[in-house]
Amino acid sequence: MSDVLEPEAWLARFARDADAAGFRVAEFGRVGGAPLLAAERRPAKPLMHIYLSAGIHGDEPAGTLALGALMERRWFDGAIAWHVLPLLNPSGMAAGTRESREGIDLNRDYLAAADPGTRAHRAWLRAEGWRYDLTLALHEDWESRGFYLYELGDNAGRCFGPEIVRDVEAVIAIDRAAQIDGYPASDGQVFPPEDNPEIRDRWPEQLYLREHHTRLALTLETPSAFPLAERIAAHIRAVDAVMRLARESQGA
Ligand SMILES: [Zn+2]
Repeated sequence: MSDVLEPEAWLARFARDADAAGFRVAEFGRVGGAPLLAAERRPAKPLMHIYLSAGIHGDEPAGTLALGALMERRWFDGAIAWHVLPLLNPSGMAAGTRESREGIDLNRDYLAAADPGTRAHRAWLRAEGWRYDLTLALHEDWESRGFYLYELGDNAGRCFGPEIVRDVEAVIAIDRAAQIDGYPASDGQVFPPEDNPEIRDRWPEQLYLREHHTRLALTLETPSAFPLAERIAAHIRAVDAVMRLARESQGA
């Protein structure tokens, strides 16, 4: 498997799999030749509303491939309302670059919205006024020595981080450094300071979602230096763990 996926063909296949799994696939924007896709499925009385996104950095294919694999195997729980946005930066993925083809780090663009893709994404979120119980963003990190995560907000006072790490450890190493990305960290969980100068004016997707659309925002990071299959398996294991915890927190 190549580390760089060909976005248009991949997205066409994702859309077919989503359709077969009963999702409605909407195109909320177009960047270069590739669509920005959101797959949606909502039961009449959903237990929760969950959002999953990946591929906002074009050099991080594992999250996108994990969401594609989950869609293909029809993993998504029928009691829950879902939005799945598998590839937020198709131009970056085509080129294998972190940034979009405009040279913008989309995951620092949610306040300024300088990139047309970010503007389209924000407009889509705002138009429907989506409110999520939980948003998950799947990422990768070239410098990390294992899996780690960020947790922003809470689910009725409950933190998911430690239990996710415990589950993921079965399939991949955990980065247990005391500092990750320049922030204090412990047992695979990163704790950025409240007033974070790195992102004060350069909001990541999850900060924007936490501010406007979700109660709990989780960012999952796999180590890019590890084999791709292991990173995909780690994302799938983490998403599985989150689902189990989310259902437990609903008493379901
Ligand atoms: Zn990333």
